[in-house]
This record gives sequence, C-alpha cells and structure tokens, in this order.
Amino acid sequence: MLKNSKSLYIHIPFCEHICSYCDFTKLFYNEKFSKLYLDALFYELDSYGIPKMKTIYLGGGTPTALSDDEFERLLCKASSYLDKDTEFTCEANVENLTDSKLSLMHRYGVNRLSIGVQSSHDKRLKSLGRCHSFNDAQKVVEKAKKHGFDLVNVDLIYGYPGESMEELSEDLKNILKLDVDHVSIYSLTVSPGTIFYNNKVKEQNQDDSRRYYDFILKTLREHGYERYEISNFARNGKYAKHNLTYWKDEEYYGVGLGASGYLGNLRYTNTKNLDKYLAHEFVSEKEIVDKKLDLEYFLLTNLRLEKGFLRKDFKDRFGIDFVDKYKDQILSLEKKSQIIVTSDRIMLSDEGLMIMDSILLQLL
Ligand code: SF4
Repeated sequence: MLKNSKSLYIHIPFCEHICSYCDFTKLFYNEKFSKLYLDALFYELDSYGIPKMKTIYLGGGTPTALSDDEFERLLCKASSYLDKDTEFTCEANVENLTDSKLSLMHRYGVNRLSIGVQSSHDKRLKSLGRCHSFNDAQKVVEKAKKHGFDLVNVDLIYGYPGESMEELSEDLKNILKLDVDHVSIYSLTVSPGTIFYNNKVKEQNQDDSRRYYDFILKTLREHGYERYEISNFARNGKYAKHNLTYWKDEEYYGVGLGASGYLGNLRYTNTKNLDKYLAHEFVSEKEIVDKKLDLEYFLLTNLRLEKGFLRKDFKDRFGIDFVDKYKDQILSLEKKSQIIVTSDRIMLSDEGLMIMDSILLQLL
C-alpha cells in the first residue's frame, strides 16, 4: 500500500452527554473503557508506522471529555508525530475546556482549537442537547486566547425549526463578537437514529435554507471572512489545513473508532463496535479506488472549494485536461454562469456551489 499521507485524524468517541442532532461515532464517557480505548488506539497508531505529519486532528466525540491524565497520554502520543510546522488541532466542548486541558494542549504543541459553540441562543443550545450557555462559550473562547491559542474555530448551526432571520442575525452578531479567525457553519440535518429524528423534528425547507445560507455568506464576507470552502470561512488566510487535506482529496491516516482513512488506492472505515475495536479488529470496510472512483472523489471534494482546483493537477492525475474532457458540460454550465474556467483553474461560481449536486450529476 502506497503511503503518501501527511495528515492524521484521531477519533476520540467519548462524550459527557449526547446531543439531539448527533450522528457521529460517540459513546458516553466511561472511565472503565477510556483507558482500554487509548491502549487499543495506540496499538492501531503503532501498526501504521506513521512518520512526522503536516497536520494532526483530534476529533470526536469529544477529546476533552477524557480525564486530564488520559488526555495527557493522548497528547503525548499524538505529539510524537509532530513536525516543525505541523498544524495540530483539537476539538473541544465548551463545558470541558478547562484551564488544565488548555495548559496540557499548549505543552504538547496543539496550536489550533475547534470549539462547538453552535448557537448564541440558550434555548436553542438546550434543544440541541448542549450543556453550556452562550455566556459560557464566550468565557471559554476568551480563556483559550489568554492561554495563547490565537487559531480558534467555532462551529455554528443554522436552520432550526422555526428559526427566524432575526435569530440568525443575532447569532452571527454574537459569533462575530467572539473575534475568531475561523467559522464553520452547518445547516441542521436530522439523521436517522438521532434524538431529533426519533422526535420527528423537521429540517428547514430548501428555499429557507438557501436564504439563510446566503445571509450568512453575505454577513461573514462583509466582516472580512473569506468563504474558502462551501461551509467554512476564514479571516487572514487562516484556513484549516487538515480539512483541506479532505477537500483536496489527498491521503490521510484515520485511526480510532469509526474513523476513516485514505492511503494509496485504499479508502477504509474502522468499526463502530467498541468490543471489536478493543479486540484490535480495526478496519471494517475497504474500498479500492479505481480511476472512475478517483475522479468521483476528486470532483466531489475539490469543487467544494471556492478556488476549485488547478487544471494542471487534474491533468497530472487523470491524464487529460478538464476542459477537453467536459467540453459540452462546460459550455452549458458557463451559459448559466455556474462554472468559472480560467487559464489555470476550474471553480464553481456562487450559484454553482449552491447546486453542486446537480452539477456533479452532469459531470459523473
Ligand atoms: S455533537 Fe459532539 S458533543 Fe454532541 S454527542 Fe455528538 S460528538 Fe458528542
């Protein structure tokens, strides 16, 4: 297997509570299992012989749900893959991003935080099943900055049932007040198996979702944030380098319960069954990426980026210029101002990004 990865994702599935919308791989935190989990995780990490990485991402679940001792074990292990300029991100929840966790992160080289703020309305936070208020979130962001973390992402969810434009506008004002360089936005989705799904919560309709998205886009742009990926905004060029690995369809190691990875021509997904994971039965699904699949993944990911991709990269990978391969489709998409073709790049327009699925159908 070819291993050309410069990025490592590590999944910590434990959470102190379960949110109503969550369909990630997660488990209630339990001291009995967390130690065993870390043992198995380190075994899996060692099995890959991972070299120094350009990006490392601790996600979950909630990495900060671990006890301080466990968290230090994890950070110590992950930091052994650090290179000189590695972007080292840790996801955190407001209620367990304590001073001691922040000090540990600082000591072991974490240099980017991603904090699940989600909303500035406490009633929304409650309905999402979050355990913090917006006031708590504000204090935690301040505290993180005092600890020297100047690279902070906050997540914002929009599209709640019954959410008014005024509410969204207040959320954006409040998020802007946090004065962070990166914002990720998510429209509320109701996936099978979640509490919201069982309670028959309805997703926002498509027209409203589009209006709300456009409002977020306009507001964040007016305040100096660049949309560099369809759901991600950065100020001062502070893009999430780790996530760019996914959006540029580059290889990455993924370890931990339910994690997925992409190495050589293999995409794999780990088991979501804790017993199997603890028994070192890690990978549960494998997919060999042939030329056709490679093209699908490439377009699915790269077209999400505001700047799309380089024609040279496409030609190097697929042996043909994108413009030659898709002459007819490009003509039709250009007429509708949905695609932008320059001498060196292919990208979707603002309008094209909004109907990316239908564009992909025309290309694949
Ligand atoms: S949304 Fe995050 S904190 Fe909430 S249950 Fe899911 S993984 Fe845990």
